[in-house]
Amino acid sequence: MAVDAHSEGDDMRRPRVIIVGAGPAGSACALTLAGRGNVDVLVLDKSSYPRVKVCGSGLSPSCLIHLRRLGLYDRFARRAVHMTKLLARGPSGHEVFLRGGKGAWIVPRVELDHGIIGAAERAGARFVEETKVVGLLRGPDGEVRGVDTGVAQLEADLVVCATGSPSRLSSDPSAPCSIRTIMGWWRGTSLPADQGIMAWDRRLDGYYAWAFPEPDGVANVGITVPHDAATPGGLKALFAEILDAQFGAVLRGAEPIGKWMGHPAVVTTRVGDDVTEPRALFVGEAARLVSPGTVEGISFALDSGMLAADAIDRHLDARTGLSPVGRARYRALSRARMLPKFWAGEGLVRLMRSDRARTWSARVLSPQWLASRASRLVGERPS
Ligand SMILES: Cc1cc2nc3c(=O)[nH]c(=O)nc-3n(C[C@H](O)[C@H](O)[C@H](O)COP(=O)(O)OP(=O)(O)OC[C@H]3O[C@@H](n4cnc5c(N)ncnc54)[C@H](O)[C@@H]3O)c2cc1C
Repeated sequence: MAVDAHSEGDDMRRPRVIIVGAGPAGSACALTLAGRGNVDVLVLDKSSYPRVKVCGSGLSPSCLIHLRRLGLYDRFARRAVHMTKLLARGPSGHEVFLRGGKGAWIVPRVELDHGIIGAAERAGARFVEETKVVGLLRGPDGEVRGVDTGVAQLEADLVVCATGSPSRLSSDPSAPCSIRTIMGWWRGTSLPADQGIMAWDRRLDGYYAWAFPEPDGVANVGITVPHDAATPGGLKALFAEILDAQFGAVLRGAEPIGKWMGHPAVVTTRVGDDVTEPRALFVGEAARLVSPGTVEGISFALDSGMLAADAIDRHLDARTGLSPVGRARYRALSRARMLPKFWAGEGLVRLMRSDRARTWSARVLSPQWLASRASRLVGERPS
């Protein structure tokens, strides 16, 4: 049960740590900190939970490992769609079918995010919804000393910025959002309940369209495209074209649920020094921790949230903030665990964008190459 931001009660007493944003990054950080019991945590989010998030809701095998670390694997296993098959379609229309094993999960974000922040609350974190943070409070020395909600100024020893994208509170607010997306939900498609489709259509300039099965016979379908890709008729027109070309058969006779929704994503191939300050840490998409190529971000959000919690728990001093060792450790572990995946994602985009490589891969290597890339997404070897 979340509390009212504007009440005068004990719920808004000064915490040691304020976390802004209750998506996977913020709530994983809150759950880990609250579970250890050493640090009093207050989470603020501008939305009212459960809230819809524009997302394919695909949980990769590494994401499932992080859910286990959080103690939430069994809780979501019951509800998740276990996507054990993936049809990967290359730019030339060549198809590779992957199947077997546990694969990836689809858990609608409205349920995933609500479930994680709920677990954090049960572990002792305070959660205040419908509270937008309009800026960080900084002292005369430039160090963060809390947050400004426009209504109140709340102080803390450290602020975790977990505001996703686009956000004024991200590690580099001036950086452009790199990926545009648009998606919708349909009921009554012919997509099998355990199968997804990913299609690298040439019109998406190195990126892809997807159709993923959600619980209760719903499918989510969308496209990702670089922000600088030519979309002469606009993103909606491009989406309509791709729906027709890639998913016409799957969507025939299906009923759309609600309106199409878009949301920008940021991707990166580096983890900058600006993800840490003596009294602030940036996690998840607020730190741009999203893979190019796949636009996978939930796994990195959970992992960075837990890494941040560990750094805070071990290295936060009320007088001096997060020690240089604590900050360096957070950056080093993030880099070691995430950069190889980001670089692989960037390689995928470059190859898919290159005409010669596209033709080459389509004619010669397409089945093996696509299979090996796509198999990473479902955690299986190609059959
Ligand atoms: C179309 C699309 C499809 C995607 N598909 C996948 C996928 O299938 N699998 C995958 O792994 N990743 C996917 N991603 C990426 C993934 O959605 C994000 O990387 C992930 O949500 C990042 O988590 P986060 O916790 O950092 O931020 P978010 O989930 O964005 O959460 C941020 C939270 O902060 C709150 N907030 C923001 N600003 C403020 C403020 N000023 N004050 C208070 N609260 C604030 C927001 O309300 C929100 O609840 C997709 C992204 C897009 C756009």
